[in-house]
Amino acid sequence: MARANAAYYATYDPFADFTTAPEISQVFGEILGLWAAVMWDRIGRPDPVLLVEAGPGRGTLLADALRAIREVAPAFGSALRLHLVETSSRLRALQAARLPGAVWHDGLATLPDGPLLLLANEFLDALPIRQFLRRGDAWVERFVEKGRFVEAAADAPPSWSGGATMTTGAPRAKDEGAARSMTIELCEAAHDFARSLASRLSNHTGAALFLDYGPECSAAGESLQALRDGRPTDPLADPGTADLTAHVDFAAIAATARAAGAATHGPLPQGVFLTRLGLFQRTDRLARTRQPSQALALIEAARRLAEPDRMGRLFKALAVCHPGCPTPPGFEADSQ
Ligand code: SAH
Repeated sequence: MARANAAYYATYDPFADFTTAPEISQVFGEILGLWAAVMWDRIGRPDPVLLVEAGPGRGTLLADALRAIREVAPAFGSALRLHLVETSSRLRALQAARLPGAVWHDGLATLPDGPLLLLANEFLDALPIRQFLRRGDAWVERFVEKGRFVEAAADAPPSWSGGATMTTGAPRAKDEGAARSMTIELCEAAHDFARSLASRLSNHTGAALFLDYGPECSAAGESLQALRDGRPTDPLADPGTADLTAHVDFAAIAATARAAGAATHGPLPQGVFLTRLGLFQRTDRLARTRQPSQALALIEAARRLAEPDRMGRLFKALAVCHPGCPTPPGFEADSQ
């Protein structure tokens, strides 16, 4: 699955298959840019500071963020150094056209030392997962071989209490022969990313904001899905030609980050987070400068991002911070 998705991002235009929040409304990227500006102020206005995006796609989020930052927080605009974590060379070329002066990395390890603010929208869900299936008392792992799912006997996946690197939940009965049956998805790459980010944030001040879709609490079950031309498709048909994603286990990711020395805030439903940060006020202000049809489209886009039965509840916001960091904007009401 890992290779299939790397091939997909390297070859296809993923945005023909799905629409992400920054492509829905420019206000999304603007708000996240201002989130970073306020956070920069709260951590003492370090200069220089790294502004990092993981998985920037077409570069839309940062293009919108930088426009808002230059307008509202020019001092942050001059202090920031743009670094992008992106593995697809095709997308790097698109990003270069929109984000001059950025520096690219394959992962976090090559980022320069120093204070950092990181944004990541729909990044963790694009990382490869492993699937374990419980059959009675035994476990199998599911692999893809010659275009088909095959199963091989496996040890039980790392335990929930021991490893905090998996989803878990109540066994789900499937049929009489397999009274105890459940699927566990494990995204080691997401945990590795959270761990190295957190260990970096335990040495340098800074904060990271993840927006993605997934449940608040860990849950068993299968979430792998493939999208082609915006419609669900068979994950095994033509590997590398459809976008593969899986729900992000926010509770487990947050636990990994805390175990590696960072503080976490959230996860919060995306609708609550964006509304607290002024999504609708900013959208209204922008809409007033537009033709009526464009103004309506902007308001509709904001609703799509925030309404609970659309992207507002399934998508979550999670912040991972240096332990001494003040609470990030949007999370204040939820901090104990
Ligand atoms: N954040 C963008 C794009 C989301 S798609 C948006 O919201 O529109 C996922 C992005 O993560 C793509 O840019 C993809 O190339 C990148 N990506 C996928 N796997 C990656 C990996 N292992 N390391 C770095 N980037 C990766």
